[in-house]
Amino acid sequence: SYKLGPKIANWDQQREQWQSQNPGFPSQIAGGKPKILLVTGSPPNPCDNPIGDHYLLKATKNKIDYCRLHGIEIVYNMAHLDRELAGYWAKLPLLRRLMLSHPEVEWIWWMDSDALFTDMEFEIPISKYTGYNLVIHGYPDLLFEQHSWIALNTGSFLFRNCQWSLDLLDAWAPMGPKGPVRDEAGRLLTANLKGRPAFEADDQSALIYLLLSQQDKWGNKVYVENSYYLHGFWVGLVDKYEEMMEKHHPGLGDERWPFVTHFVGCKPCGSYGDYPVERCISSMERAFNFADNQVLRFYGFAHRRLSSPKIRRIRNETATPLDIKKQINLQDRIISR
Ligand code: UDP
Ligand code: MN
Repeated sequence: SYKLGPKIANWDQQREQWQSQNPGFPSQIAGGKPKILLVTGSPPNPCDNPIGDHYLLKATKNKIDYCRLHGIEIVYNMAHLDRELAGYWAKLPLLRRLMLSHPEVEWIWWMDSDALFTDMEFEIPISKYTGYNLVIHGYPDLLFEQHSWIALNTGSFLFRNCQWSLDLLDAWAPMGPKGPVRDEAGRLLTANLKGRPAFEADDQSALIYLLLSQQDKWGNKVYVENSYYLHGFWVGLVDKYEEMMEKHHPGLGDERWPFVTHFVGCKPCGSYGDYPVERCISSMERAFNFADNQVLRFYGFAHRRLSSPKIRRIRNETATPLDIKKQINLQDRIISR
């Protein structure tokens, strides 16, 4: 069956050896945190609908902001590394390629283009995942009891750069090749996963199916996270931002102040989605501005309303700008934690 590339069997040793020979490329950043590479991307061609390109740009700015604040490196991919794994499957060959090309990186974090950071202060509790190699948002009961096709969400997850992850990618990929293989696998997935509509195999269903059918093999290294929104479904979040701003503060990451708001079913770059495009666009605008306020605040500005790209001043200019910096600087707050 289909292969992502030549079988690699000793990546952990290869990587360790490379690291010992390249001390100038440490796998940790300042403060002893493991080096994380955030990966996202979009199709190689313009969106069907030009407004989609504008929101891809906004979603990219949002990720650059978050990553700058937290010392995370970022890759934006627009190429199809493997013709057979186009579309949502494109992340698999990309993740493998990046692991192999960046042995200094400890974690690779995939994030969909249609997912926005909405808590600019929250940080992944990475030390919690010692002993795990895949961190993904989901619900164990939906997964293991209900076999639901939305038990996990592959819009935002982290892979440790190690042999186990390469093996998982190898086991995950065979349902991906476009055409009869993907179509046939889609029928198998629909027959086995609760709630799944009939369509070609997608990466999310395939991962759920793999973890269910080979639970003994993979289960003990997968952390199914739901104590914060590593992925948060936009419906039910975007209308509550004002309420959150009244009652809570950034840094919580859960339903009080969601870490990530993901526009599942929207497809602003494509021509059809599950929700009206106007509702999607206005909701994305609100999520973007909600997050952007947390960035603009350092510079003394805020959006006039969550629906508006226009901004207003929230502090007077001063001749001693550094006096106020301490109170407002997110970077200082994060580092001092
Ligand atoms: N993607 C990509 N290249 C493509 C198609 C998709 O990089 O040609 C990425 C993009 O980041 C997207 C994710 O894969 O958000 C998931 O794809 P899907 O088709 O599910 O799109 P979504 O509904 O997330 O926009
Ligand atoms: Mn998505």
